[in-house]
Amino acid sequence: MARGYLVAGNWKMNGSSAANAALLEGLVRGVAECPAIDVLVCPPAVYLEAAHRHLAASPIALGAQNLSDQAKPGAFTGEVDAAMLNDVGCSHVLVGHSERRTLYGEDDACVARKFVVAQSGGLIPVLCIGETLAEREADATETVLKRQLDAVISAAGIAAFLNAVIAYEPVWAIGTGRTASTEQAQAAHAFIRGVIAKNDAKIANSVRLLYGGSVKADNAASLFSCEDVDGGLIGGASLKAPEFLAICASAQILAASRDA
Ligand code: PEP
Repeated sequence: MARGYLVAGNWKMNGSSAANAALLEGLVRGVAECPAIDVLVCPPAVYLEAAHRHLAASPIALGAQNLSDQAKPGAFTGEVDAAMLNDVGCSHVLVGHSERRTLYGEDDACVARKFVVAQSGGLIPVLCIGETLAEREADATETVLKRQLDAVISAAGIAAFLNAVIAYEPVWAIGTGRTASTEQAQAAHAFIRGVIAKNDAKIANSVRLLYGGSVKADNAASLFSCEDVDGGLIGGASLKAPEFLAICASAQILAASRDA
């Protein structure tokens, strides 16, 4: 299997110049032990440029948590576009995180626009999709995942997924300490890969699918060992270097055994 593991940290609205410097220093030192995986950190926008400097000699990639849906610069007070994120060293950007969808009213069309402008601006979008607890309990998980995916596929085209990452993040597991079981995670990931495969089997096989939702050092190995899970999007546990590095180490062990 050609897909490698990616472990991504979403710092959300946390950090300070001093705390970020200490965290990044720990990560830069620690990822040397994880050469077989890719690692990404997504600090708040105001700290991206400083983070880029800290990561200069490191393989850790830098991502933003959000971007404007506008394709061209202009009178959009408070917004930051893809070109600006690129300019300060980002290679990736989260798109459609459930907190953006629920707290800031981003609907499927808005998320699709952001996905398209991210790629046009040279960024790799990490498309976040996932169902709420009510949707899962109503047996609507697959319907929701397909609707969220289809919105992006019809706006961007399936070939766009050659250069994108998908994160399955059940909303009920984000920041709750409640994690999807390995069976739930694998079933959702297999379904997502199947939706992509109906459009293009080769792309389905190459696209990386991350699991997100209360991943910690003690559950990462079992989640990452699922056939269709290619790493994780980590929130709370990405804020402490030892915990995040322990999650990376789980992926490293699995990556090394997949390669063997
Ligand atoms: C997230 O915010 O993407 C996330 C998965 O958070 P947590 O790991 O804290 O559940």
